[in-house]
Amino acid sequence: MAGYASFVNTAVGKKLAAQLGLPRPVRLRRYAVDAPLVDGAVLVGGHGGTPLLDRVRAVLADEAVTAVGEVAEGQRVSAVVADLTAVESPEDLESLRALVGPALRSLAPSGRVVVLGRPPREAATPAQAAARRALEGVTRSIGKELRAGATANLVLVSDGADSGVDSTLRFLLSGRSAYVDAQVVEVTGGEAAAPADWRRPLDGKVAVVTGAARGIGAAIADVLARDGATLVCVDVPAAGEALARTANRVGGTALQLDVTVPDAGERILEHARARHGGLDIVVHNAGITRDRLLANTDEQRWASVVEVNLLSVLRMNEALLADGGLRDGGRVVVVSSMSGIAGNRGQSNYAASKAGLIGLVQALRDDQGLRRRRITVNAVAPGFIETEMTSRIPFATREVGRLMNSLSQGGLPVDVAETIAWLAQDASAGVNGNVVRVCGQSLLGA
Ligand code: NAD
Repeated sequence: MAGYASFVNTAVGKKLAAQLGLPRPVRLRRYAVDAPLVDGAVLVGGHGGTPLLDRVRAVLADEAVTAVGEVAEGQRVSAVVADLTAVESPEDLESLRALVGPALRSLAPSGRVVVLGRPPREAATPAQAAARRALEGVTRSIGKELRAGATANLVLVSDGADSGVDSTLRFLLSGRSAYVDAQVVEVTGGEAAAPADWRRPLDGKVAVVTGAARGIGAAIADVLARDGATLVCVDVPAAGEALARTANRVGGTALQLDVTVPDAGERILEHARARHGGLDIVVHNAGITRDRLLANTDEQRWASVVEVNLLSVLRMNEALLADGGLRDGGRVVVVSSMSGIAGNRGQSNYAASKAGLIGLVQALRDDQGLRRRRITVNAVAPGFIETEMTSRIPFATREVGRLMNSLSQGGLPVDVAETIAWLAQDASAGVNGNVVRVCGQSLLGA
């Protein structure tokens, strides 16, 4: 932890924070290969038939976690999973209040609230659509009420897609989702193969990460390799030494390449085929900022950001997503940004590029050719992440960025990387066209 966050956890800082009512960021529970899925029993319940709870119980049993139907006096629970998929009208939401409300007092540090619902657009009546949409408002409010590193997220599972929910449940309950808070994840497909080993879900996959020399890209390479993938690490020739370090660390190969060259996509494919036999996962992470107020942004500053962050991705995808590009069941994840969702003063060029990536992801969601080949395309949108990029922000702005979220701290590169690794799994086949923020429920708008 840095700056305010480390001060506020010293003896003096703790006292001062308590007296002044200041936020007290805690150390978040993060994933370790041998760590349990959650630390303690999970409360499960919901409304009506709760069709999804059998799957939830099966996931918990597989991880040797106890599921309980109620919280005993003085007992702590590590998570609450509330199945509201059967709600028909807003009256039914009382089941959510009655289950989750009292349990929040018993939730352990870095606890989890996972609400399960169905997409409002698939509702049979306006009352059902209202009740389904209400789940989003409740979940986001719970996120703002939780303390001590706990998070709340909503999973909307389409009718018929229940069997596709396991990887998302595991992700949201585990320490992998430490900095993912108040998100709505949609699972729209059910055909998802479980890995032979949930601790190595990317075994046998070949992945390329652009911008892998440092920062978030280097962390993505580390996490994908830990989960079993073979890595192609891409960065500009000027970052060659750092790139080689990443590639060596993860036992992958380095490809010095500026992603803006016209044939970048073809060069990545050739390298992956020649060295590793093919390509399954693409993470478009390389990105730059050239911040200025729009009034002071010249053509060059505008063009360079749009070129690196957006146009290069569109161009590379032409090659990577063409027939004979990514293998069937491939995964594309683009790294967008909170700026692309909420906008940010002084970042109109960057926000344009990062919002553009979201447009691209949403367009590809409906691409029939990709569907046939079972290729998914998703975006992650980081909020404030501790990297060299953010260390250059002036002190006061940086502290505000760090603290203005429900977890009262910046995220780490590994938090973005874990989210990408979840989306990259075969078992996440039903998660397509999503934009998942990794922002600790940023309070900076949108
Ligand atoms: P960083 O500047 O530390 O690393 C970016 C990497 O991309 C560098 O190694 C750089 O050499 C490489 N790169 C830049 N241009 C390239 C090109 N043309 N070809 C190949 N490689 C190129 O940045 P970071 O903080 O690790 O950010 C990674 C991604 O996450 C970026 O897309 C960024 O916009 C996004 N992001 C970061 C934050 C944050 O808080 N740090 C927040 C939101 C989004």
